[in-house]
Amino acid sequence: MPDADALHRFLFAQVPIRGEVVRLNQTWCTVQANRNYPPPLRRAMGELMAAAALLTATLKMQGSMILQLQGHGPVSLLVVECGTQLTMRATAKWAGELPEGGLKELVGDGRFAITLEPRGGRQTYQGIVPLEGGSVADILQNYMMHSEQLETRLWLYANEKTAAGLLLQKLPGRPEQDDDAWNRLCRLAETVQATELSQLDVVTLLRRLFHEEDVRLFEPQPVSFHCGCSRDSVARLLRLLGPTEVHDMLREQGAIEVSCEFCNRRYCFEAEDTEQALRDAVGTYDIPTRH
Ligand SMILES: [Zn+2]
Repeated sequence: MPDADALHRFLFAQVPIRGEVVRLNQTWCTVQANRNYPPPLRRAMGELMAAAALLTATLKMQGSMILQLQGHGPVSLLVVECGTQLTMRATAKWAGELPEGGLKELVGDGRFAITLEPRGGRQTYQGIVPLEGGSVADILQNYMMHSEQLETRLWLYANEKTAAGLLLQKLPGRPEQDDDAWNRLCRLAETVQATELSQLDVVTLLRRLFHEEDVRLFEPQPVSFHCGCSRDSVARLLRLLGPTEVHDMLREQGAIEVSCEFCNRRYCFEAEDTEQALRDAVGTYDIPTRH
């Protein structure tokens, strides 16, 4: 597979518009291998992963971006986290048989949240909007337009083997000289086929889509799966729950077993370990790992 697990940035030399192409292969397969996601959910997850990589690569900060779809449908939660080094993890919560259909049928009414967690304990930022749009791309485009005032278009695709995406974005703070450029480039990008997005090498893909434009393509960045969970993060979680609840759990189960919803790693805390975890000095509380 050409350009597997890589993100490519590009710029149009004549107009203030940037673009990116991402293709996730092993990264996406690892997410699917960790848990058995039902087929209707896979497409939305793959698309959200591709979108997370594309949006994270537009950030100037160092840290991570978390995209969450929460709803009242059969899928109650979809979470993708992407670090600015393009390390990713993802998980979802669902109940029962999932209907075939679009995102609306799966997630129902709900909300979409973007959280930015800068490295080094700087202020976390969170933007939350109602779920508006019938696809992952629609929801993110609406969010970027209304909350960030950044005109952004996304084309996303996911099957079992590949999650891929194409992004175009107007550069912030740069008035457009060529009024029609944005519409023209979006119309060209619109013609992209799923097979091109998921299989064609990026140089050929960009040449096919924008053959009359002057495109500057940058060195690709690798994308990979990584879960930052650790025994320490589980211990922090136990401290957050507090001694009463933790002791109740110990009484009921004998030991506390937690498995990470992102990577399936299992952590076991026997009574003694649990006491130690509760006693340990409270460290700085960073990214809460969902368990
Ligand atoms: Zn994990």
